[in-house]
Amino acid sequence: MEKSYDLLCREAVMHGPLEALFCCIGDPVVGNPTQLMMEATFRSLAFPARYLTCTVSDRHLREAVGGIKAFGFSGANVTAPHKVAVMEYLDDFTESARLSGAVNCIIARDGRLIGDNTDGKGFLISIEQLAPVKGMRVLVIGAGGAARAIVTELALHGASVIVIANRTVQKAVRIVDRLQPHVSTHLQAVALNKGFSIESGFDLVVQATSVGLFDPDGGLDLTWKHKHREQPIAADVVFNPVRTKFLESAGDTGAITVDGLGMLVHQGAVAITQWTGKEADRTAMRSALEDAFTL
Ligand code: NDP
Repeated sequence: MEKSYDLLCREAVMHGPLEALFCCIGDPVVGNPTQLMMEATFRSLAFPARYLTCTVSDRHLREAVGGIKAFGFSGANVTAPHKVAVMEYLDDFTESARLSGAVNCIIARDGRLIGDNTDGKGFLISIEQLAPVKGMRVLVIGAGGAARAIVTELALHGASVIVIANRTVQKAVRIVDRLQPHVSTHLQAVALNKGFSIESGFDLVVQATSVGLFDPDGGLDLTWKHKHREQPIAADVVFNPVRTKFLESAGDTGAITVDGLGMLVHQGAVAITQWTGKEADRTAMRSALEDAFTL
């Protein structure tokens, strides 16, 4: 009979090797369900590991990263507001992290801490379950950390055009300036005005602002202009509520909709594989998140 997760954890303490340690650092982190999703997959894989959610203020970020190394953590997730600032304290970066200029996942390898960005990879998986990104014409609404990671990954995977629309247009321009020299995708920045029209011709439209988060009635003022025979994919990064106003209105116009929960699960699953070499149990992770949102 296979040993249970609980028995393996107890045996690890008594006989070693000790359980693998992971954490999520950010401020605030109360309400961030990552721990519950990660614990669900550790249990399902019978992988002896512990995951902590830690409030880390700006002034303690350096020591917190030092602690991750000193305590021998195998990896960590990084959330707002540290995704950019944490880079100063890491030893190396993956291409996604370097190009997007943000880290949401730290991998400990041979005593060094490597910064990765799995947000964009998680998003990419949720889209490629429907259609290949290569050659796609994409509109990304928003230019914050999530948008940056998504634009980077879509460009690295061969999207032909990405238009970035943001309320503060300068932030969209900065993404274009930073990324364009490294990719063949045609990047363009535009202003997101009230009553913004989503013109026809996009294969994928991404709502990557924080509008609608924890606000089922909140949504951007958008008009869809695609033609009847077109069926774009509309994806929202917001995961709570799962069915957002943006997805409702996109669905009403005939678009195929993709919710933000998929991205959240996949970015966590990519992290698990980076940390452990194991394939995560995405069903257990999604159901842990759905349970968490009812608490
Ligand atoms: P940031 O704070 O970095 O960026 C926020 C973005 O939202 C900016 O583009 C900002 O525009 C825009 N925005 C905020 N309010 C408004 C408004 N009233 N009207 C128009 N635009 C607005 O946040 P992140 O990019 O880190 O996060 C964005 C969302 O993505 C959050 O909801 C977060 O929870 C979600 N997320 C989901 C993940 C997942 O796995 N599903 C992973 C990571 C994030 P401006 O620049 O003009 O201020």
